[in-house]
Amino acid sequence: MGAGPTGIFAAYEIKRLKPDSEILLVEMGEDLTGRNCPREDVGKCVLCPVCGVVSGFGGAGAFSDGKLNLTKDVGGDLASYIGEKAVWDLIDYVDEVYLEMGAPKRLYGVDRQRIRELKRKAYRQGLLLVPFRIRHMGSDGGRTVLENFRKRLEEMGVEFRFRTRARRIVTDGGRVGGVELEGGELVAGRYVIAAPGRVGAHWLVGEAERLGIPFEGGRVDLGVRVEVSEEVMREFTEVLYEPKLIYYTPTFDDKVRVFCVNPGGEVVTESYWGIVTVNGQARECCKTDNTNFALLVSTKFTEPHRNSIDYALDIARLANNIAGNQPLIQRLGDLRRGRRSTPERISRSVVRPTLKGAVAGDLSFVYPYRYLVDLLETLDALNGVMPGISSDHTLLYGVELKLHTAKFRLKPSLETETVEGLFIGGDAGGVSRGLVQASASGVVIGREISRRMGGAPP
Ligand SMILES: Cc1cc2nc3c(=O)[nH]c(=O)nc-3n(C[C@H](O)[C@H](O)[C@H](O)COP(=O)(O)OP(=O)(O)OC[C@H]3O[C@@H](n4cnc5c(N)ncnc54)[C@H](O)[C@@H]3O)c2cc1C
Repeated sequence: MGAGPTGIFAAYEIKRLKPDSEILLVEMGEDLTGRNCPREDVGKCVLCPVCGVVSGFGGAGAFSDGKLNLTKDVGGDLASYIGEKAVWDLIDYVDEVYLEMGAPKRLYGVDRQRIRELKRKAYRQGLLLVPFRIRHMGSDGGRTVLENFRKRLEEMGVEFRFRTRARRIVTDGGRVGGVELEGGELVAGRYVIAAPGRVGAHWLVGEAERLGIPFEGGRVDLGVRVEVSEEVMREFTEVLYEPKLIYYTPTFDDKVRVFCVNPGGEVVTESYWGIVTVNGQARECCKTDNTNFALLVSTKFTEPHRNSIDYALDIARLANNIAGNQPLIQRLGDLRRGRRSTPERISRSVVRPTLKGAVAGDLSFVYPYRYLVDLLETLDALNGVMPGISSDHTLLYGVELKLHTAKFRLKPSLETETVEGLFIGGDAGGVSRGLVQASASGVVIGREISRRMGGAPP
């Protein structure tokens, strides 16, 4: 279940190799044409029961910026299950399929000479630049790819059930027997693929506990969405599109990452379990004058508090509480001076906010001291390579989180060790954290199921 990249690629691969197989793709969100986010019209997040930004055909990727990160080092941990060589092969394969579905040919992150210079520059400030190839589909290009995928899957005979939530994974004597849907209908099946993404991560953990599937607690990345003038980061974004930078902060020695960079993009909201958080996207059609990116502090809690997800959600809830269920926005200069931002102060910012409906306030009421210090120290370090990034006018939106969910113990085929025929892939399984590795995990599962059903070799 789950029609995100994992579910889509798994279905595609099974049908490609075993055309007479029967596949039902169960998705709690809308079909591609029905997906929307009322924020565009209403001007703020209205907390839809099923968030159109993260749910529906295409999964969390559908409205996203559509950056295909063509590397094993970013966007997931698939290599720990299937080995590095296999991941590289799958990345190439997945990229080919995206190209076939209409992804643009242009690649970023291939100019070695300029990358070397940027790396040197970053290194001098104590920042590690992790370069890799990126194919940028853009939010609009990504949608075209999904439309083609949707059409192809239908031609192949895949059946869909939208607006339908899987409630329970059904097992019988250590083997999977199907899925019980909301409303009580039982869909029998020899194989079940659980790929419910971050939005379904809580549900999957509950099912895993019930079925005795082992997993370990995930890490959490918590921070802010930063918005600056596009010029500030241009030197990096025109070569790499998405400069991934890592910094270890002087005071706490915490790992802070620059992540999900959107040149010419806009800040958007998403909601998880009724909590509004922020994210970013860039559209091909309508570029803004700004670039936004996530600045995230990585934390993994150990004994006695192991539930990193709940910790992050509590902080996001606090921000929602203060801002009346909307994201908070603050100028960096106001944060540094220990005063809240007001609409009037935001209106004097040189950087014009791209997110409508964010509430001007004070992020220092939300983030623990440790996080604030980490974020400010990292912005100062970044200023050494991208002057202007820690200007008073830089805008900070909170809360941004990347929940790394739980990491499941799985066989190299991504089948669970305890329930035969049950496969877990994508972000919810802790296997991926991005489109490419989520898609690749779907291919791994699809090939294994097809092999067991006597399908053609890949
Ligand atoms: C705004 C945004 C921008 C992003 N930009 C990028 C990017 O540029 N590049 C990149 O690599 N990654 C990006 N990502 C991350 C990327 O989208 C995810 O890593 C990827 O989609 C994960 O794929 P998945 O198949 O594991 O899960 P998802 O894509 O999350 O899909 C899971 C699906 O399962 C459904 N579901 C959940 N529970 C149930 C249930 N019980 N029953 C039925 N259906 C269920 C959900 O509705 C959802 O549609 C972005 C994410 C967001 C939110």
